[in-house]
Amino acid sequence: MTTLALFGGPPIRARAFQAWPHSDQAELGALAGVLTSRRWGGIHSGSQGEVFEKALGEYLDVPHVAVVSSGTAGLMIALRALGVRVGDEVVVPAMTYAATATAVSVLGSVPVFADIDSDTHTIDPSSVEAAISEKTKAIIAVHLGGHPADMDRLGLIAEERGVPIIEDCAQSLGATWNGAHTGSLGRVGVFSFASTKNISAGEGGAVVTQDGELAARIASLRDHGRPLGVTGHHPELGWNLRLSEFQSAILGVQLERLDRQLAAKTKGAAFLTSVLSSVPGLRPVPADLDPRVTRHGRFSLAFTIDAGAFSNISTSSFRSALRAEGIPVGLRDLIACPDEPIYADSAVRDYAHSRTVSCTQARAACTRLVLFGQAAGSGMLLEDPSELADVVRAVEKVHDNCGPLREAEHQRAMTRVPSDS
Ligand SMILES: *Cc1c(COP(=O)(O)O)cnc(C)c1O
Repeated sequence: MTTLALFGGPPIRARAFQAWPHSDQAELGALAGVLTSRRWGGIHSGSQGEVFEKALGEYLDVPHVAVVSSGTAGLMIALRALGVRVGDEVVVPAMTYAATATAVSVLGSVPVFADIDSDTHTIDPSSVEAAISEKTKAIIAVHLGGHPADMDRLGLIAEERGVPIIEDCAQSLGATWNGAHTGSLGRVGVFSFASTKNISAGEGGAVVTQDGELAARIASLRDHGRPLGVTGHHPELGWNLRLSEFQSAILGVQLERLDRQLAAKTKGAAFLTSVLSSVPGLRPVPADLDPRVTRHGRFSLAFTIDAGAFSNISTSSFRSALRAEGIPVGLRDLIACPDEPIYADSAVRDYAHSRTVSCTQARAACTRLVLFGQAAGSGMLLEDPSELADVVRAVEKVHDNCGPLREAEHQRAMTRVPSDS
């Protein structure tokens, strides 16, 4: 048995996997073009922003697209455009990136946390039904990791209760549900182009909708409350949440690579899923892909670990050991949104009101998750199966070394300094 790299042994993999995000000459050319044009920002016809909005709309098959400064900005705009006001409730999943909930809170509205489905880790429609009250003005469905939420059931609930769905597609650009793109299924879709996302300009976002009236409000809210084409006066309260021309130009180039990268990641993820599923104690999320998920967005490849099969080591020990072997994996436990200090600490709770319907599954998932791919800041899923075989070797090595890992945990627990000294 070779010693774990964590304890000084040789790592399984010394070479880095592909990095994320990608760029080549095309991005350089796009940037130079904007620089020399002297039109670096603003809303104008023929802009890079407009060109990219058109390209993204065609890709998604959605008629209205507005680029914005971030995914969080997009969520705030979507909420305001739908008329969500101070004190109104918005149902959000208890496990997501915190911005899904904080976008609601910064508007003075109240996130209501619904639990996640234990298999897909997306929002549980039954919990959404339990969360809806007279004050509910919107539901945010997050396509977590690139896996579409159950838009069939959520759509029925939304229709029955007369509450619109905002799709948080920050992690799901390119994913399809029953053949239709995420972002085209609810009233509004919101994308992010931050560094780890499926296409990136470092920062950025987009708000998309089928509804022309809503689109006009979205365009106005991102540009100081000025409807498109209006200058000189401000008929409504808005923000400046515009995207720069440099960012739009880069995104146009990135979008052209998206389908090719998704195909590679689909292959890499399928390989890892099949080989890692046979390791006792590792379960892919979801166990089997729902046939309605016609394409997974592959922001991440997720597994849950059953500690029992690994001599009861903590998930965090497992991740650290794997990382030391040269396998990029997210290191920290996620935090269920209701447990985030902003919602859990009484000192700040007065400012950020929330309500939790249930978060049992979310809490359980947070401490058992093992995330590969962009969620761990890596382009690893783009690699060929021949390269990815190292992941399997590393997992097997960690599995074989559970004893020493468990022992090290015991040692740490024994020598822990009491916190009051
Ligand atoms: C990244 C992300 C956001 C926020 O997007 P930013 O562009 O970083 O503001 C919102 N929701 C989810 C699920 C995300 O992953």
